[in-house]
Amino acid sequence: MIRDLGDTKPLPVILKPVPDELLSSWITRHADFYGVSPLIMFRHAIPEATSLRQSDTKLGPTAAGHVARLFRTQSSAILAMATSGFPKSAARLVAPRAIQRCTACAEQNRWQGAATAVQRSWIEGWRITCPVCRQRQHDKREGISALASPSSPFEDLWEDALDGERLIGQSLREASAGRISPIDIARLLLIRRCPKPFRHDALIDHSTILGAVVQGFDELVAEQGLPRPTIARPILPIALRIALLAGISIVHREGPALVSELKRQTLGAHYTRFAAIGAGSSRTPQPLQLN
Ligand SMILES: [Zn+2]
Repeated sequence: MIRDLGDTKPLPVILKPVPDELLSSWITRHADFYGVSPLIMFRHAIPEATSLRQSDTKLGPTAAGHVARLFRTQSSAILAMATSGFPKSAARLVAPRAIQRCTACAEQNRWQGAATAVQRSWIEGWRITCPVCRQRQHDKREGISALASPSSPFEDLWEDALDGERLIGQSLREASAGRISPIDIARLLLIRRCPKPFRHDALIDHSTILGAVVQGFDELVAEQGLPRPTIARPILPIALRIALLAGISIVHREGPALVSELKRQTLGAHYTRFAAIGAGSSRTPQPLQLN
């Protein structure tokens, strides 16, 4: 049954969202203010919701209208706080919780009485800079202490990495016609590479295509004992993400000639996968939406 927007009663007091705030964060801050659980607060707008995370990932236009009415705003403003509008190929690049943060914005939010606010960019696994103030993001995840310092072994690729970040952001806002998308380039770069005859180090069992574009990437992952990045696990610590984003920029710039050269460095199932993504025929399941 389709509910009328009038079924949702607006809240008497509305807290101002911080710039780039994630919808689940805004809902949670209202839940704290009114003394209810975040899911109960979300259910004031969407009674059938089963988890708060659905507010970020599965919000359709009608559901956004109900949430907008609850918070006395426009549904376009609500949709801009969620990640549900991203193309399905970006799903694996969005983390279920904050993996990074912008220190300057976090401080600013604290001064504005919103110390617990989470910005949408803090769950976006392709970001290296803050979309609000342009400062560098910092990892929040544990277990990457060896790479937690602000500098990366790939600092000299910073400008290329910024270009890769920009390309992904652009592809999320507008469909790229014709050319292989930056997100598909990221997936190509994380495919396993045949280590011969490009092997630099006999200890590296899991060479990636990215290691052929950015020298030293596979070696660093092996040295640090980090899990090998894969298409299913593409969110990297920021120090390594710089290499991935730079790789995206380089492949995007060089175009089809480099893509076919890289394809020759894969074998068997990896070759088939590379060819499928390169031809734009990759498929990921479409999640159900809260309409
Ligand atoms: Zn910031």
